[in-house]
Amino acid sequence: MISPRAWTRSRLSFVAYEGSEMSFSVEITRFVVALSISWFVTRIPLFLLPRIALHELPLVDHPTSPPVNEALILQLLRVRRAYWASIPIGLVPIALGLLMIIQSPSSFGFGLIVGASWVLIARITPFTLNPTGRYPYAMGLIHELNQIRLEPTPCCADSSPIWEIDGVRCASCNRLLLAESRPDIGRRRSDKFLLGVMRVILLDGRPFTDAAEEE
Ligand SMILES: [Zn+2]
Repeated sequence: MISPRAWTRSRLSFVAYEGSEMSFSVEITRFVVALSISWFVTRIPLFLLPRIALHELPLVDHPTSPPVNEALILQLLRVRRAYWASIPIGLVPIALGLLMIIQSPSSFGFGLIVGASWVLIARITPFTLNPTGRYPYAMGLIHELNQIRLEPTPCCADSSPIWEIDGVRCASCNRLLLAESRPDIGRRRSDKFLLGVMRVILLDGRPFTDAAEEE
């Protein structure tokens, strides 16, 4: 038979064990919540900044393929700035997290640092070595498009390049002029607001489809 004292002792240690288990799950929850907030805060500028511009550029509505013109090039430069704005914006949760950790060990602070660092590392890591595909809005890609705008390819008599989802094609003869798939170009999206946000944020501006095969 268990003596009452032994029972009390084992009961107490059980309570203590349960308590530590609970505080552990609380810490994990805090960490995950902080990580998600900081991940979201660092990625959202890419969606928001090009869409809240003071004067909108004359672009065709989403999801129509835009012609390669001056408005498209200017819009791409604008989205590119928003893409890189994540670096200074992401430094804010990192600094906050560091301040929290310096004061006391904090799972929330640690989550803030991990979330933003994750986005920043993903941003500065190039996808390919090819200068046009290094980042979704690589300067090399913008130069290529500008070249097409300035010197339209003599594919047919009525050449008019448009940027379709999987590459730049001539609207008249359908010839592929540039095999680069189109990233999100910061237009108001025709899909539901939440779905649009999710798509842009999860893909981080990257194209939804692969580039067309060169013929
Ligand atoms: Zn053509």
